Amino acid sequence: MGFVTIYFSLGSNLGIREKNIVTAISLMDKAFGCRCVTLSKFIETKPMGFTGGKFLNAVALYKVLMQEGAVEKGALDVLDKVKAIERSMGRTDEPEYDADSKRIYHSRIIDIDILFYGNERIDNERLTIPHKDIENRPFVMVPLKEIAEPSLMEAFPEYFE
Ligand code: AMP
Repeated sequence: MGFVTIYFSLGSNLGIREKNIVTAISLMDKAFGCRCVTLSKFIETKPMGFTGGKFLNAVALYKVLMQEGAVEKGALDVLDKVKAIERSMGRTDEPEYDADSKRIYHSRIIDIDILFYGNERIDNERLTIPHKDIENRPFVMVPLKEIAEPSLMEAFPEYFE
């Protein structure tokens, strides 16, 4: 077993947004069996790619005890846990795509994405890590830069130039 440093992006633009993020963090603490190490400030942002209420966004850093070796399996386990938390908080929508395979986005009570999983790069049917296109998303990069540890910046300098 070894600790894996995992960065998550959290966002909410429905209901009591701050409470939704705090609830998600406490459910993640339970699911991962450890407390969030660092939580960024919450920032308010306009939805990108669709019209809707403003988001509150944050980035959370966890150090989770995982089985060594099976990296993809471990990351998929983490994905399953955060997707289960989204559903338990009332999120019902499945990812939708237009005719050009571009994601169609909607308002959501909570969205939890895995930004980085240790120093790994993963690309399979269900998971892309580092999360796609984050360098163009200020709602991710602003809180991420606030809490990123030097080891992340060394492993992925292209995100922090
Ligand atoms: P979303 O609705 O934005 O949370 O995204 C939903 C889908 O994106 C999930 O069902 C995942 O399979 C996929 N996905 C791909 N890469 C990631 C990632 N790094 N973190 C979270 N979801 C991901």
